[in-house]
Amino acid sequence: MPSAFTHEFNTPAFKGKVSFSTGLFINGQFVDGSDNTTIDVINPTNGKVITSVSEATPKDVDIAVEVAQKAFDTVWGLNASGATRSILMGKLAILMQENADELAALEALDNGKTFNFARNIDVASSIDCIRYYAGWADKVTGQVLETTEAKLTYTRHEPIGVVGQIIPWNFPLLMMAWKLGPALACGNTIVLKPSEFTPLTAIKMCHLLNEAGFPPGVINVLTGYGGTTGNAISSHMKIEKVAFTGSTLVGRKIMESAAKSNLKNVTLELGGKSPNIIFDDADLEQAVNWAAFGIFFNHGQTCTAGSRIFVQEGIYDEFLKRFTERTRSIKVGDPFAPETFQGPQVSEIQFNRIMSYIESGKQAGAKVEVGGERQGTEGYFIQPTVFTNVDSSMKIVQEEIFGPVGVVIKFKDEDDVIKQANDTVYGLAAAVFTPNLNRAINTAHRLKAGTAWINCVNSFNANVAFGGFKQSGIGRECGEYALHNYTSVKAVHVNLGHKM
Ligand code: NDP
Repeated sequence: MPSAFTHEFNTPAFKGKVSFSTGLFINGQFVDGSDNTTIDVINPTNGKVITSVSEATPKDVDIAVEVAQKAFDTVWGLNASGATRSILMGKLAILMQENADELAALEALDNGKTFNFARNIDVASSIDCIRYYAGWADKVTGQVLETTEAKLTYTRHEPIGVVGQIIPWNFPLLMMAWKLGPALACGNTIVLKPSEFTPLTAIKMCHLLNEAGFPPGVINVLTGYGGTTGNAISSHMKIEKVAFTGSTLVGRKIMESAAKSNLKNVTLELGGKSPNIIFDDADLEQAVNWAAFGIFFNHGQTCTAGSRIFVQEGIYDEFLKRFTERTRSIKVGDPFAPETFQGPQVSEIQFNRIMSYIESGKQAGAKVEVGGERQGTEGYFIQPTVFTNVDSSMKIVQEEIFGPVGVVIKFKDEDDVIKQANDTVYGLAAAVFTPNLNRAINTAHRLKAGTAWINCVNSFNANVAFGGFKQSGIGRECGEYALHNYTSVKAVHVNLGHKM
């Protein structure tokens, strides 16, 4: 019997007791892993164990795939109408709304993000996403194609079957929603692995899936490690498609496993080193505020983090002065305190990785304008950090740090900044700040990135495509585009009487 997780929240932001059983969610039930082993879930605020969850083995992945296939063949896939799927997804969205505070509290406890951001961004956007795709479930259609009068030719967009989904720890609930939404709308069944660092909202969601009435086996959630459970998913012979969000390094492994197993279809949403470009004529106060939000939102653990801030030479000094002050004013601390903007980094591993990047910047001769140290002595808190005096050979300029660490770089003109901004292996997102729309749009079009923001940053919508150029990924999430990842297109040719 899997154990139960019980926690009493008594915080300024949320008070209440949460209690639910944990375990692997297979065929609508919570079960122990086949090896009976567990994974500790750590509170990043103090490094203490919150609870432990079951660890899935490759054998558990096999069991989950089997029940998911059975559900696909009997109660889901082409056996459930789009309207049925839409109704269930709509119920799920309502239940998420009803449990929004609890979901946000779990996310804050487990990930370290603030309750306010979790509630107003992660949970709210996750509900939007499920609701949005509930609307699509009965609108996934093919086309009738005119060929000759002797033929009726049409396409069907059929669900793929059992799909695998592997998600990270930076937006645990939202990444789950982005993956479940289009896959369910198209009629697929799912085997999903959350990050072992942040499994709590995924497990809570399993309870809501049952309450909404999804048939057993349609969605299966396996907590486990990447190297075993994740690898078993990406190399499984009966999983026809895998969707992954995480590092470029692991993205490569996923593609390799897919290629070496059954050539499953792969979509990847990977890292970034996004440029944030501020022209001389930008509204300086707004540019400073957005630049801070760009890099420090979610503690810098955002794939689109505007980690390279390019500032035109005419305003560079004034921008830097104000940006440094703004950074210094950021409140770092308890995720549940209303005034906190930045909580702890998600894990000790991540904390150490970020601190080693900060050290490498110092060693390479970059100047720390603000921050640059650990904050406090307990938990994984890091001071919001800004470097200047950098060059393109430095690791802190080229590599994804995934922490509250930005570099500020001076540029001369449009050509100069486009060249520097595109000088990266990544191409996830970019932002441009200027009231001159010609310049803004020209620059946005010349940047090699899947998302270009003009006079804003880190702004997402469930109905707008999201994904990367270059090594930032393959395929698009959100919007109608994500549906293409989850159907197989079949062309049907009907002879209307042509005789041989
Ligand atoms: P990973 O890419 O390692 O993890 C993402 C997910 O993939 C997790 O569920 C992980 O499981 C799983 N995974 C790991 N190895 C494998 C494997 N061989 N096969 C299948 N699945 C696997 O990210 P990290 O947590 O290690 O973070 C490292 C860096 O990745 C960060 O510093 C950041 O730069 C980047 N990152 C980017 C994200 C994005 O949104 N683009 C999100 C998260 C991280 P497990 O947790 O058990 O390792």
